[in-house]
Amino acid sequence: MQRIIILGGGVGGTLVANLLARKLHAEIDRGRVAVTVVDATGDHVYQPGFMYIAMGAEREQSLRRAERGLLDRRVELVVGDIVRIDESRRAVELGEGTRLIYDYLVVATGSRILPEAIAHFNEEAHHFYTPDAARRLRRALDAFTGGRIVIGIAGMPYKCPPAPLEVAFLIDSELRDRHLRDRTEMHFCSPIGRVFTIESVSEMATPVFVEKGIEVHTFFNVDEIDPEQKLVRSLEGEELPYDLLILVPPHKGAQCVIDSGLAPSSGWLPTDRETLQVKTAPDAPDGTKAPRFPNVYALGDATDLPLSKAGSTAHFEAPVVAERIAAQVRGVEPEATAGTYTGKVMCFFEIGGGKATVLQFDYNHPPRPPKPNRFWHLGKIVFNKTYWHTVPKGRV
Ligand SMILES: Cc1cc2nc3c(=O)[nH]c(=O)nc-3n(C[C@H](O)[C@H](O)[C@H](O)COP(=O)(O)OP(=O)(O)OC[C@H]3O[C@@H](n4cnc5c(N)ncnc54)[C@H](O)[C@@H]3O)c2cc1C
Repeated sequence: MQRIIILGGGVGGTLVANLLARKLHAEIDRGRVAVTVVDATGDHVYQPGFMYIAMGAEREQSLRRAERGLLDRRVELVVGDIVRIDESRRAVELGEGTRLIYDYLVVATGSRILPEAIAHFNEEAHHFYTPDAARRLRRALDAFTGGRIVIGIAGMPYKCPPAPLEVAFLIDSELRDRHLRDRTEMHFCSPIGRVFTIESVSEMATPVFVEKGIEVHTFFNVDEIDPEQKLVRSLEGEELPYDLLILVPPHKGAQCVIDSGLAPSSGWLPTDRETLQVKTAPDAPDGTKAPRFPNVYALGDATDLPLSKAGSTAHFEAPVVAERIAAQVRGVEPEATAGTYTGKVMCFFEIGGGKATVLQFDYNHPPRPPKPNRFWHLGKIVFNKTYWHTVPKGRV
């Protein structure tokens, strides 16, 4: 019996499990292979919908489904807290003392937000990275009658890089519809020297900020929030007063991978950019490659790859992980193309006013976003609605 354990039942973990069940169905049915997903809640959550809760267009109930219902019947689901991975003994320890032994391990534990890492964040700043926070932001927007809105990013990397820009554009549209825009100053703060990490996307988005009258502040790394003066200060020494403050919270990888010594304090697992095998350490600055664990893979938000932390990234990584593990189980070489991740990502990007564009790229081809239009906006809406029947089940 060869045991494949997948940690995390989000986008990446669920898709890898279903693809493995499909590829190895004969081996599983004969009792030679077992595929197990371990997840803390047993619920699968569609996080991109959180932004639409904040925009008043989505309800939390539509964004949560039982993980069991999304998994192939050949996949076992264990609900429990992963506490530690002991790679030397090929064991995973769960909170209640259970130990699971593996031959192959897939780490798809995603990322977590740490608003508490910045003093006064929880009392003063809004965000949309949990359903509760998104509902709270919705209530604040409903009560808003004009003033200064500051939207910023309080730590990189974070999930869904376009999200804070999309929120700025969608709030601008909403305030125009509510005839409040001329009573509102909007400010967008970016920690780097442009509005978006990828240059071609920045070139597309910068004129949109200008057109919408949203003032951009570059090199604004959030340092502290002053609740008395209602000011947010940057490490670079800039101060911005706010009436409504919206900040992407700092993110880290899962605590269990840090505690297992597999990732540094950031929690992002050193990961091979093509094979998605976890490395014993990041590669050296001179390019010397660190050894890979042959049987441990990571995908999705959990990796340290310099790519968007996006469901789309996990979606395109999952077939590579499944191909490589299925080949190892059968003792053959993985198919070269199917077993190599090229850095493919595809994300919709809302511009407001019922328009969107799309970012499609890989390691060698930067995105060339098309002119925003209604088609891509509708594409995002349709994708959000059909997600449950497509991505986790491996149907696209
Ligand atoms: C507001 C918002 C908007 C977004 N918009 C988009 C978008 O438009 N497009 C896009 O592609 N992506 C978007 N994303 C990002 C996307 O949701 C994530 O990148 C994606 O879910 C990552 O998939 P994953 O499998 O790596 O992790 P996740 O889907 O987060 O799954 C991780 C799983 O691991 C489990 N887990 C973690 N730690 C433990 C533990 N110790 N014990 C047990 N279980 C554990 C969790 O319970 C969870 O089920 C958005 C995210 C947010 C928050």
